[in-house]
Amino acid sequence: MSEETVGGSTEPVEVLEDARPSFELVPLDCPTCGAAVEASGVDVVFYCTACRNGYSFDIENNALEPVDVAFVAASHIAAHDYRPFWLLSAEVEIRRRGGGRGGDISGILGALLGSRSSDRRAMGAVDGTFAIPAFHSSLDSTIELVHRYTRALPELGERLGERLLGGCYGVDDAEKLAHFAVIASEVDKPDVLKQLDYRIRFGAARLLGVPFQLEGEVWRDAIYGIGV
Ligand SMILES: [Zn+2]
Repeated sequence: MSEETVGGSTEPVEVLEDARPSFELVPLDCPTCGAAVEASGVDVVFYCTACRNGYSFDIENNALEPVDVAFVAASHIAAHDYRPFWLLSAEVEIRRRGGGRGGDISGILGALLGSRSSDRRAMGAVDGTFAIPAFHSSLDSTIELVHRYTRALPELGERLGERLLGGCYGVDDAEKLAHFAVIASEVDKPDVLKQLDYRIRFGAARLLGVPFQLEGEVWRDAIYGIGV
């Protein structure tokens, strides 16, 4: 018996020195019920349609951590899809604000502060909830979604057995987006922005499933009709 084969492979061999991706693949079985959890590309938040529990990928522990989930109560709406938002409970504190004519806060902070935003002397902290898309969209769409859902959060209902895909932003990203949206909402009033000193202390985070509909080729949220 003679082996005449020279060389082991007809495939070109690529040597990728230290070019391995810095992420690991983790098995996506639901930690609660064991069902396979659907995920797309770069998702970091997951929802099990079998047992209706949500999870956030914790990169430090390399594990799925449980997250509370609610869905927008919209049984009258025929949703084509549901997308995840983060609901971030937060304490907002105004440390200092301008005393000039432009001192009123009317953006997202104004919405969270409610009647206090028109009281020039009001200081102190108020509790509120930021609603931040967990999925990727254009910056304009993201900011508009933050504005509308933070200003008027729709009524929340029960957890649905619907897929909640595309959540590529974790809580840390959502907190940064919340700050960005606050600043963006005041940016047309530079005198306010310049003199505004605020602090946001974020508390518990949970996921919100928001119904979306496909109109032509544009996905829009089914509550406010904002295209993404
Ligand atoms: Zn499950």
